[in-house]
Amino acid sequence: MNTHTVAEKPLSAREKIAKLRATFVAQLPMRIERAHALFDRLQLDSGDQAAAVELHRFFHSLKGTGRSFGFRELGAAAAEGEDLAAELLKQPLAPEPPHWRKRLGECLDRVQMRIAGAGSLFGSDADSADAGFTLPVSAGQTLTGKGARLIYVCDDEVLPLEQLASQLGCFGYEIVSFTEPPKLHEAMLARRPDAVIMDIHFPQGDRAGAEVLEAIRRETGQAVPAIFLSARNDFAARLIAVQAGSEAYFHKPARAIELVAALDALTQQQPDPYRILLIDDEPGIASYHSIILQEAGMVTHQISEPSRVLEVLQEFRPDMVLMDMYMPECSGRDLARLIRQVPDYVSLPIVYLSSETDRQKQFSAMRIGAEGFLTKPVIPEDLVTAVVIRAERMRTLRSLMARDSMTGLFNHTTTTQLLENAVANAGRGGGAPCFAMIDIDHFKRVNDTHGHAVGDQVIQALARILQQRLRNSDVVGRYGGEEFAVILQDVPVNVATRLIEDLRQDFSRVLFHSANGNFSCTFSAGIASYAGHRRAELLREAADKALYEAKRSGRNCVVLDSHSMAQDTK
Ligand code: GH3
Ligand code: MG
Ligand code: MG
Repeated sequence: MNTHTVAEKPLSAREKIAKLRATFVAQLPMRIERAHALFDRLQLDSGDQAAAVELHRFFHSLKGTGRSFGFRELGAAAAEGEDLAAELLKQPLAPEPPHWRKRLGECLDRVQMRIAGAGSLFGSDADSADAGFTLPVSAGQTLTGKGARLIYVCDDEVLPLEQLASQLGCFGYEIVSFTEPPKLHEAMLARRPDAVIMDIHFPQGDRAGAEVLEAIRRETGQAVPAIFLSARNDFAARLIAVQAGSEAYFHKPARAIELVAALDALTQQQPDPYRILLIDDEPGIASYHSIILQEAGMVTHQISEPSRVLEVLQEFRPDMVLMDMYMPECSGRDLARLIRQVPDYVSLPIVYLSSETDRQKQFSAMRIGAEGFLTKPVIPEDLVTAVVIRAERMRTLRSLMARDSMTGLFNHTTTTQLLENAVANAGRGGGAPCFAMIDIDHFKRVNDTHGHAVGDQVIQALARILQQRLRNSDVVGRYGGEEFAVILQDVPVNVATRLIEDLRQDFSRVLFHSANGNFSCTFSAGIASYAGHRRAELLREAADKALYEAKRSGRNCVVLDSHSMAQDTK
């Protein structure tokens, strides 16, 4: 077959929603036909509970989805049908002549009429061509990973420049150095850096560097974050820096670890986008809400069968769940209760998104432990706000429980748990992890010689190096005082060893400073692989033994557990 692919322009959120709406309209005749069949069954036997339940659900979801897509009158007709069907559910054996028969029949006719209108004009009933809403502006979250951040350093003194570049490189920054401002200018236009470190004085003049920054802002309409670094410490020099829009000023000789702290703050990447799980038996409406949240920068996953919830929670790891209240398989209440009974999800925020307007029913549903109740049709801005507030709180809570406050790395408990998860995942055929234990050498001496505060700086610097240099999928934990643990997902043990070895060399090159002089530190590491040890406990023991071996053989080295090595080369 001769296929010809044309690069399709991705649909905008508005276009996607228009498509969903068209699908909803196209499916209406089929749905109403089914409703008529249910009505016929009820006319024959008013006690047919299954038919009454399904008819009630038909009206209920038609109400919610219809309103969400902007079909107000259709929504109103469906709401009336829902009330009638609810009555029928309460009193299935009402005596003849049943008042419901006539009213329900009329209601179905009205819905049918609205449906015909919706089909003919794609929403003659709708508030406007785009259902009367505006999409909230994106929160600006991006999906990019943590890739190396690019820093341009411009200084006419070559030697200190090279030293600085090499120190910053140890922290995972990509450093490109320039000695002449015009060259820097060219480079900035060709590839925009995340930040610039700039000297004040150049042979071309004291404002040569500042002028480059100003020109870039003029030419590209956007300033690049800049830090000035100068041998001068006078008012005039600092004024040049401030007027050029500098974010920080360092007096030479600058300490790399302090510059790194400033750079980290300046180039801080967006937090990972919030992850939202949507559960709704109507895929169309789940997609609609999904698009609104995606537009605001979130990642969503939707399911229409509640029975898949446990597996999806495990894999998708949402920050919160938005769920419908009425679903054929099980109710939202039951589902919320079921989720809450799993220890891992005790604090996972659950919010109902339903067309249920009865306050009593809403409260009763929330008593199960749901966090809130949003009524369909929900205004897109309200949906985004409600979700952001709860997802943010969840993130903070999780992070407080899971992370070490000094370094921001995972704490001991979480790291252990994540190692167990990684091993279990490998057991199911996922990628095999390697586990490394890292311990700073003679750290007691650092504390004794330079003080506890400087010791803390060393711990923070190593934490930063590990975090910056490993991939997002890898786990970095602070295992104890000056002890760290790293889980490298899905890498051969020789690659893992080389990686830790590179980190060891880089860390040993970092210069620290104290009143008692400059110094550097080293670490020792032990590595073990899943191939050699298929249980988390054994993997930990093996890495610990290898670390002990590294210490015994003189420190400042990486030792691979012998059994892991043997298995890997088989
Ligand atoms: P080795 O090379 O054998 O690992 O020697 P070491 O001195 O590093 O090992 P040891 O375990 O004997 O000492 C670790 C020291 O780390 C003891 C403790 O006071 C210090 N320490 C633990 N946590 C912290 C912390 O958060 N900050 C600082 N500054 N020091 C800490
Ligand atoms: Mg130590
Ligand atoms: Mg120790």
